[in-house]
Amino acid sequence: MICPKCAGKTAVKCKINGTVNNRYRTCLECGHKFQTVEAIQFDNYWSEYAKETYEANKKEFVSEQKKER
Ligand SMILES: [Zn+2]
Repeated sequence: MICPKCAGKTAVKCKINGTVNNRYRTCLECGHKFQTVEAIQFDNYWSEYAKETYEANKKEFVSEQKKER
């Protein structure tokens, strides 16, 4: 996956595998850290997983947005 900030290449630093795979990535270009979720596409709980990831990253996400303004 490419970096959401600069579209650079990213590396997986840590992953937690289960019925949902969480990957903690770091951008090799700008150092931006973010988390991704891999889940079964037609799973009814998909929106819950996405929400959890968003909530977990919300603090950083919001502060990054404020910085850009
Ligand atoms: Zn980047």
